[in-house]
Amino acid sequence: MINEMVITQLTKRGIQDQKILDAMSRVPRHLFVPSTVKEFAYEDRPLPIGYEQTISQPYIVAYMTEKLNLNRQKKVLEIGTGSGYQTAILAELSKFVYTIEIIHALSRRAKKTLRSLEYKNIKFKTGDGNLGWKEHGPYDAIIITASPKTLPNTFLSQLSNNGQLIVPIHKNNHQILALYTKTKNEITREELIHVRFVPLITKTV
Ligand code: SAH
Repeated sequence: MINEMVITQLTKRGIQDQKILDAMSRVPRHLFVPSTVKEFAYEDRPLPIGYEQTISQPYIVAYMTEKLNLNRQKKVLEIGTGSGYQTAILAELSKFVYTIEIIHALSRRAKKTLRSLEYKNIKFKTGDGNLGWKEHGPYDAIIITASPKTLPNTFLSQLSNNGQLIVPIHKNNHQILALYTKTKNEITREELIHVRFVPLITKTV
């Protein structure tokens, strides 16, 4: 099932990076979803993980990961641990992943799943990701897996030179994946495909 997922949903749709295809073949997605939806774990869609949240569609996980140009030297910040599935893919392809989740129960569950799979290069935090995680920055890559209205500046300030940041951002009642690249003198922004993510929770003060 997992091989079929990789071929039909990823390779055939243009995901080319062999390292990403291998990582997606290795990580058992069914362990990241509730038992009620396990039978759909390798299907071409997001699935509910409780608390009104979802695990992203495999293609979107691969697509976003590909844009981050990861390698084993890179340090990644992820906002929105959710099921921990995307976290596992990042951990397979980078040096270290820092991941923040606002819902305690989800953070706990993801931590348990990822520990059982013996990932040693992930650090978890439960709390509001809107401020990033300054202490361990700057990051070579930042991935936000919930949709903000606008991108808080904190994230770009925690991104390294030559780093990439990918975020599903609101645009005219839709969402679009935006890819930011930071260089010494400027930040460039590229708009990619339309997507649908749950909103990034912003606590009002
Ligand atoms: N990458 C996840 C997708 C989870 S959905 C996966 O593959 O399973 C997005 C997640 O972002 C949800 O779990 C939600 O609770 C979390 N989230 C929303 N607002 C947040 C915030 N301000 N800080 C941290 N996490 C947040």
